Amino acid sequence: MDQYPSAFDLLLFYLELAKLQKRIFEEMDSTELTFLLRWFPELFHLVSRFVPSLAEFGKENLTHESARLDLLTERWEGDADQIDPRAEFFAHALLEPFASNLATRGQIDPQWSQPMCPFCGSRPGLAVLRGEGDGGKRSLMCSLCATEWNFRRILCPHCGEEDKDKLPVYVAAAFEHVRVEACDTCKTYLKSVDLTKNGLADPIVDEIATVPLNIWAEEHGYLKLAANVMGM
Ligand SMILES: [Zn+2]
Ligand SMILES: [Zn+2]
Repeated sequence: MDQYPSAFDLLLFYLELAKLQKRIFEEMDSTELTFLLRWFPELFHLVSRFVPSLAEFGKENLTHESARLDLLTERWEGDADQIDPRAEFFAHALLEPFASNLATRGQIDPQWSQPMCPFCGSRPGLAVLRGEGDGGKRSLMCSLCATEWNFRRILCPHCGEEDKDKLPVYVAAAFEHVRVEACDTCKTYLKSVDLTKNGLADPIVDEIATVPLNIWAEEHGYLKLAANVMGM
């Protein structure tokens, strides 16, 4: 999505979307994807206030319930990369609370050490740092269901690189507690939110709010491991 006037508007849009997602999460009375169909009209309405062209796309391409269910099913069983980025927004926005709700019902293996989400198999969307210094813990957070799992601090979640010199960390003065964790071997990155620097940080919101870091990383040749719901 390239029509955003500013990071501020992007954040306003996201905060409204998060309110809708919270209601979807709370009112989830079925574990079938068909539960999500009833939320499309409200999502279209919300999107039309912020990104009219995206709402138009939705109304034109997701008119019928069958098209909506096909999209949700394709995304749920497949991969975001295979889907038109505009359609992916609608699927991701609705599947996030759905998947998060399901994840709270399941059991996660506490020994899990893979780079993919132990609940839904999606790629991590961001990292969270807790505890001071090099002994501090890093966990990864799923880009779809928000499940968090421990992951070694010096290890690329994409290619497995473990050489500290090839895993640079970039910090911008404007965002003291959000960093770019990159890998020079596979040229991917994700952002980490350091809760030791800001204990009140909301990792998901801050990851979305720090768009200048994405632009910086991409200008330096790094590709993000997994896009957030805003497509960034
Ligand atoms: Zn997940
Ligand atoms: Zn790598």
